[in-house]
Amino acid sequence: MTTASYFSARDGILHAEDIPLPELAERHGTPLYVYSRAALRAAWQAYADAIAGRDALVCYGVKANSNLAVLHEFQRLGAGFDIVSGGELARVLAAGASPKRVVFSGVGKQAWEIRQALAAGIKCFNVESAAELERLADIAQEMGVRAPVSLRVNPDVDAHTHPYISTGLKENKFGVDIHKAPALYRQARQHPALEIVGVDCHIGSQITEISPYLDALDKLLTLIEGLADEGITLRHLDLGGGLGIRYTDETPPHPADLLNPVFAALHQRGLHHLQVILEPGRSLVGNAGILLTRVEYLKRTEVRNFAIVDAAMNDLMRPALYEAWHGVVPVETRAQVAPETYDVVGPICESGDWLARERALAIEQGDLLAIQSAGAYGFSMASQYNSRPRAAEVLVDGQDAWLIRPRESIHDLFAQERVPHRDKVSS
Ligand SMILES: *Cc1c(COP(=O)(O)O)cnc(C)c1O
Repeated sequence: MTTASYFSARDGILHAEDIPLPELAERHGTPLYVYSRAALRAAWQAYADAIAGRDALVCYGVKANSNLAVLHEFQRLGAGFDIVSGGELARVLAAGASPKRVVFSGVGKQAWEIRQALAAGIKCFNVESAAELERLADIAQEMGVRAPVSLRVNPDVDAHTHPYISTGLKENKFGVDIHKAPALYRQARQHPALEIVGVDCHIGSQITEISPYLDALDKLLTLIEGLADEGITLRHLDLGGGLGIRYTDETPPHPADLLNPVFAALHQRGLHHLQVILEPGRSLVGNAGILLTRVEYLKRTEVRNFAIVDAAMNDLMRPALYEAWHGVVPVETRAQVAPETYDVVGPICESGDWLARERALAIEQGDLLAIQSAGAYGFSMASQYNSRPRAAEVLVDGQDAWLIRPRESIHDLFAQERVPHRDKVSS
């Protein structure tokens, strides 16, 4: 899936579906996140086609983009959800999700989050340590319920991605060492408040090849066979998320490229009774969104040219955090302006506050730029750093545009803050 078909130029003006972006900037201001509903649907459809006719569940990785409108769209399309906090559980329930399609991942689940998820009746806890298993058993017992358990195992495979988004290596904080998993399953089996339902892994993000998944799958299947020999049977196998998208020239696999060999391997090893779960985040939303920003100033120094824009690292953190590359395109083509090489930077007082480096752009002060592939880990990572209200978000559907989150106001910035009373001065 590429951005091209949903964010394309008509008569020299970039559109989101059928709406010219300058119109949205006029109506809602900048910086502005703009999502295409058709792009969300197309990304979903690729997964839906790949699982058609199989016992499989696609659980959208909520943290990639957790706006209620996005969650609601996926809920209506039939998605399950992969959550990593009590806040995300509340969001997916507010979006109308069935708890029976919710899996709960994360290394640091707090007691209140476990209680909340048990009370809701979620599909499964993806347990990441012996200590968590113990806490989960205690709380379930106290509540008089059984907790559905999957162990997130760490298969120790290299996903060949950025170190910050690689999660399946031994040295990562995630999951249980796959060799220690059988002992933990035995422990779980002994506990009346635990119900073993599956196994899962999540080896990283922005993965652009299939082989790391298949390496992990092979290790998981061997684990599953060993458990079956001991009479521990699982109902599902969850391979996590992580499928990459095209930011620049990547050629990420299609969901079917991943799922076909997975179903084939299950069949071959006589494990086709297992439900297959995936937890894609980025690949469902990444290329369905752009960040629209306006050039405030062009600044030329001896060594570099800067396009200083009104979006910053607080709006889109990925470049500062991972040195991530995002395409930057002017919203209106300027035939009379000669392209120059710019660093696209924000107004924040950090040298790490850049959005793109060394891009040839034909632009003038006041122009609009679209930062591409910003639908995943964009708004969901946004902060108010430098007391900048978070951007608005708009969902476009053909010729319609819904404001799905208004721009925060200056008042919102400190409305929750309290100054201590000064009348109790100590003498
Ligand atoms: C973040 C995360 C996902 C989604 O990852 P993507 O790379 O966005 O597909 C899925 N599962 C778990 C456990 C995660 O932490």
